Amino acid sequence: MGQEGFTAQKRATGGGGTLPTTTLSSFSGGGNRSRVLPRGRQIAKTMNNIKITILCGFVTILVLRGTIGLNLGTSKVDAERQHLEEEARRVIEEIRSDGAEPDDEPDMNPNTTTFSFGPKIGNWDQQRKEWLELNKEYPNFVKGKPRILLVSGSPPNPCDNPIGDHYLLKSIKNKIDYCRLHGIEIVYNMAHLDKDLSGYWSKLPLIRRLMLSHPEIEWIWWMDSDALFTDMVFEIPVSKYENHNLVIHGYPDLLEKKSWIALNTGSVLFRNCQWTLDLMDTWAPMGPKGPTRNEAGKVVTAFLSGRPSFEADDQSALIYLLISQKDVWMNKVFVENSYYLHGFWTGLVDKYEEMVEKYHPGLGDERWPFVTHFVGCKPCGSYADYPVEKCLKSMERAFNFADNQVLKLYGFRHRGLLSPNIKRMRNETTTPLVYVDQFDIRHGGSKS
Ligand code: UDP
Ligand code: MN
Repeated sequence: MGQEGFTAQKRATGGGGTLPTTTLSSFSGGGNRSRVLPRGRQIAKTMNNIKITILCGFVTILVLRGTIGLNLGTSKVDAERQHLEEEARRVIEEIRSDGAEPDDEPDMNPNTTTFSFGPKIGNWDQQRKEWLELNKEYPNFVKGKPRILLVSGSPPNPCDNPIGDHYLLKSIKNKIDYCRLHGIEIVYNMAHLDKDLSGYWSKLPLIRRLMLSHPEIEWIWWMDSDALFTDMVFEIPVSKYENHNLVIHGYPDLLEKKSWIALNTGSVLFRNCQWTLDLMDTWAPMGPKGPTRNEAGKVVTAFLSGRPSFEADDQSALIYLLISQKDVWMNKVFVENSYYLHGFWTGLVDKYEEMVEKYHPGLGDERWPFVTHFVGCKPCGSYADYPVEKCLKSMERAFNFADNQVLKLYGFRHRGLLSPNIKRMRNETTTPLVYVDQFDIRHGGSKS
């Protein structure tokens, strides 16, 4: 940056110097010729020369002042920016170093390697039922619909790259919009509730904690931060899951083949009940960071087909559990693929324009995907399975594709799927409520 300013300044000085030198020398040439002119005309000529010389000098000063002034301004801006960047870097480093706070929390299980969430709860259904009886002002069903809580989260620290934080913000805005439009409550978590269950495993202690602290919630719906709603009209057909406790996107034939991508835990619903607590108690012991997670990684890689060898992730562990203990769990698991509760991004993001041409929101399937999930993009991390540019551009497209559906009520849309800027779609009117009936998603609008 400093180098840039220096070069610019040098170039400007050179240019400023050339102009008067050339100009002056041409006039001094004129001065030579003046010797043969009559005295009166010579004086007039000299006066003219002086005037022009003063004018040129004035222009030179103006040019010099302009260029020097501009350069001074630039380096001031540069210096301010540099100062801001240094400050930001310092604060980030301080946050990353954990604020030098002493860690006085005792280990939960100092003498054992077996993970546990603490005292085992065995009668949650009964406890919850009694609480609901006593707290009728917090019913788990409202107007015949189960109360749903959408839960998402991201790491406690800033992303490795600031653009990652920008997309986390867009992602939470997208979720807030969807939840607002559909009467769903939302929680966003940035804390690691359990030191051992970090990263993708952090959703387990969080979901469990929220279940126990919100008995009025019937379904906890976890959604990854890298998953975006792309159909703002579609609603989960929740009555279909009356007899199930876990709803997850996947394919039964892939489960048969023990594929490591048979199910996806990026967007998944858990019923608030004893069954889910039991599932968590069986699932979580594969997650503690370190030797336990590494050993579990070896087990699931050996068991599942297509899985590269790396530490156990929550998704592989769940697939492993549901296949290896099929009789215990599967009768309460609904494997959904009639719509994209999770939709893998690579096959979808390039087709948004085609979808707009042919279909309309509210379908939720491959014609207009409910959720587009950027698996493997790791926008907040420093490594990814796909090129960063492709991931970020695709996330921008997905966000704007969804945001257009929200903006329609207000009469705006994005200039293009890659443009954060918007444009007006219709003129202001003296009868705005006509558009509310026509475009409000809550009134079944936006179908066209
Ligand atoms: N996550 C979290 N806290 C963390 C790290 C991850 O809440 O410290 C969540 C975040 O929502 C993220 C999800 O865990 O989207 C799963 O990780 P990721 O999406 O990177 O995995 P992928 O979908 O690519 O397999
Ligand atoms: Mn994800």
